Amino acid sequence: MNQLDQKIKDLAKAYSTDTVGIRRHIHANPELSFEEYNTAAYVEQVLQSYGLETTRVAETGVVALIKGRNADRKTIALRADLDALPIVEQNQVEYKSRKEGVMHACGHDVHTASLLGAARILQELSGEFEGTVKLIFQPGEEKFPGGASVMIKEGVLQQPEPAGILGQHVFPMLPAGKVGFRSGMYMASADEIYITVKGKGGHAALPELNVDPVLISAHLIVALQQIVSRHASPKIPTVLSFGNIEARGATNVIPNEVKLEGTFRTMDEAWRKEAHKRIRKLAEGLCESMGGSCDIDIKYGYPFLKNEPGLTGRAREAAQAYLGVENVVDLDLWMGAEDFAYYSQEVAACFYRLGTRNEARGITSGVHTPTFDVEESALETGSGLMAWLAVQELQA
Ligand SMILES: [Zn+2]
Ligand SMILES: [Zn+2]
Repeated sequence: MNQLDQKIKDLAKAYSTDTVGIRRHIHANPELSFEEYNTAAYVEQVLQSYGLETTRVAETGVVALIKGRNADRKTIALRADLDALPIVEQNQVEYKSRKEGVMHACGHDVHTASLLGAARILQELSGEFEGTVKLIFQPGEEKFPGGASVMIKEGVLQQPEPAGILGQHVFPMLPAGKVGFRSGMYMASADEIYITVKGKGGHAALPELNVDPVLISAHLIVALQQIVSRHASPKIPTVLSFGNIEARGATNVIPNEVKLEGTFRTMDEAWRKEAHKRIRKLAEGLCESMGGSCDIDIKYGYPFLKNEPGLTGRAREAAQAYLGVENVVDLDLWMGAEDFAYYSQEVAACFYRLGTRNEARGITSGVHTPTFDVEESALETGSGLMAWLAVQELQA
């Protein structure tokens, strides 16, 4: 190991109070997806105070380049997200959200502060590595179509084109000081399914005069599960869930139609497309065979997130070297979705988890809950490790 890891550790520690301060400022001033105007301006101001030039992409996204020696040799991108959620914060802390009903409950404040901390370290050490680090602060992770897809459309992965991209996400199941990696399939694509089953309503005592969309829907829900059990490869995780059914009839009234709403999640883009076709075909055929019909709308959500094995393997080893083998864990598959997946469809990507739990201090709430918070020592880990992974990957 060269001495660069020690220098990065020392700087991460020296800057940790400032990094926590940045996190608290962002936490106290949250903004919803694609409305991150003040957050973006703040990020620009912080980056400029480190001597970096900034560019706006996707209106509230910010990009900056840190150039080491021989800057054109290779580029590695580091990504953070800026947006908060429509949740009323219940934590009683001095940095509590000052905006009622908006809260950084997914840790994007931590991601942004960590990346700013990493930027400061990398800029300070820019004479000690070769290549360029591209910093990507993106809007709208929590809201379709996802800030990542907008940034990519606007060219964030060009000029310079990164050889790889790394992103980190808080993980309240993992103690602070630890990180987690998973190579290959990691997070799911998530599509919304809306089906309206149409029949012919009437008096419930006269079934022979009606086409009952409630009965058709019951069959349909059961039949659609066979797409998962009989058509999905057992090697590809797949979930189909219907969480909302609406039949506005009564004990004695058969309605004209029933609305079904669900989610389809998987980890293979070809299978995802084929499954959509099968859902349509089966629903249309089944409804017709029972005398009814249906309208189907499948809204594409985020794609599936794949961690490129080469990059992820190197990052995992580099993390072990930086944090110690005992502080790097293997992650399970996760059927949640994340818009970092868009980058992973374009370029070698690694999305890893940053432990933020502190059981002793009661910091255990899950993300997207009103009591979510983090053990802030994770910011020192998060900022230093990101800087370290970037310079290691530039050397790879
Ligand atoms: Zn989230
Ligand atoms: Zn998130």
